[in-house]
Amino acid sequence: MNKPLSGSLLAPREGAAALPSVDRILCLAFVPALTERYGPASINEAVRALLADKRQAIVAGAAPQVAWPPGEQWIETELRRRLEAANTPHLRRVLNLTGVVLHTNLGRAPMPDEAVEAVSQAMRSPVNVELDLASGDRGDRDLLVEGWLRELTGAQAATVVNNNAAAVLLALNTLALRKEVIVSRGELIEIGGAFRMPDIMARAGVKLVEVGTTNRTHLHDYEQAVGRNTALIAKVHTSNYSIQGFTARVAEAELASIAHRHAIPLMVDLGSGSLVDLTQYGLPREPTVRESIEAGADVVTFSADKLLGGPQAGVIVGRLELIARLRKNPLKRALRVDKMTLAALEAVLLLYRNPQKLAQRLTTLRLLTRSQSEIEALGRQLLASVQTALAGRACVELRTCQSEIGSGSFPVERLPSAALVISPATKGRGSGTALKRLAKQFRSLAIPVLGRVGEGALWLDLRCLENADEFVAQLCDLERDAGSASDS
Ligand SMILES: *Cc1c(COP(=O)(O)O)cnc(C)c1O
Repeated sequence: MNKPLSGSLLAPREGAAALPSVDRILCLAFVPALTERYGPASINEAVRALLADKRQAIVAGAAPQVAWPPGEQWIETELRRRLEAANTPHLRRVLNLTGVVLHTNLGRAPMPDEAVEAVSQAMRSPVNVELDLASGDRGDRDLLVEGWLRELTGAQAATVVNNNAAAVLLALNTLALRKEVIVSRGELIEIGGAFRMPDIMARAGVKLVEVGTTNRTHLHDYEQAVGRNTALIAKVHTSNYSIQGFTARVAEAELASIAHRHAIPLMVDLGSGSLVDLTQYGLPREPTVRESIEAGADVVTFSADKLLGGPQAGVIVGRLELIARLRKNPLKRALRVDKMTLAALEAVLLLYRNPQKLAQRLTTLRLLTRSQSEIEALGRQLLASVQTALAGRACVELRTCQSEIGSGSFPVERLPSAALVISPATKGRGSGTALKRLAKQFRSLAIPVLGRVGEGALWLDLRCLENADEFVAQLCDLERDAGSASDS
């Protein structure tokens, strides 16, 4: 197969003139199969690009990589490689060994099988997303999950939007348009990705009234700020940072009583929020949605893909008439979630109905509650394979480390964990480059592996590694890449 193409144009001459024509290549026997797979336009483009690159290389006097003119086999292999590369989806599955369990850049909560099943079913076939099967009437898509959310939070009603930022936007815009919203200065937070409370307030069309100071806000600060134009008191859970020391904040129950005395609602943005008391699983305490409702909050917003462990969505629970107003806001239609999100969310909410099994079944909770000894045992099992794969290029050891929960949840708390710590053999000058290259080699694997760079090493925190076999299986590719990269 690897013989040169025959024909006058393909005589074994040097130089650009020896290049076969596009048409000639398109007549080769392997082309129809590639066309079937990728479509004629892609093939055409790939052939032209291949010839253009080759022509340029020849003109530039670069040494040809293969004897030229090339055999049919070489052309086929090269075209296949290019077409495959050009058609690889940009969204790829990765191994999150960063030590941040809910990693926003990696899609936050990995989802349990129950949710995956529900989503694939909803994708594949028609589903009753807005149809009441009992009556045959049109239904509201919120009704699919509202019952579960009421049960799990004690709230009267619930609605779901695209994410918690959207939930906050919708609630503010519905409940306080052109009116004043009172917020403590200590709670004017910025969440990553340009979500700043004051900016969201402006976009929602509400007027922010700041009270108190960064570290201390008292009951009388709120009392004094309430006026004729006040529509809402808002409390924002400072989930992604912690103010410690000389601090004072007003409890939700007290805020609720001020709000209600003035006949205005209290809104609580819990950020992460939790549907269960996480301390029962040995995790740090996070306020639950039910606690806010019981304290008298009229509207509570939280993310579905932070500690809840579900899909990206923002949940708003609260008083019936307020949720009804939110649903009527035209913004709700613009912020609504699709059937896939609802399918995943419902499947995850159903898991919460059996809290005893939650730590096994809910992926995020399973990862968050994994014990250090279990992670260390996994590390001992993997250590030799990684050492072998990187022999001579890097030193690999098993060390204890601290995982983070992530997504702004529990900014201070850490979870004891274990990591494979990989230090490049290159020391001193060039060690930074060697480390970067090492991290890149792991990212270049078929299932990219993402670690954390620190203290001159690449840390692979094993907390989120559940399938060790596939991790080990690709180490041989790393070996080859590592070899060629260290030569370059
Ligand atoms: C994370 C967070 C948000 C934004 O939620 P998304 O689901 O990321 O849109 C808003 N408020 C608080 C307090 C948060 O922690």
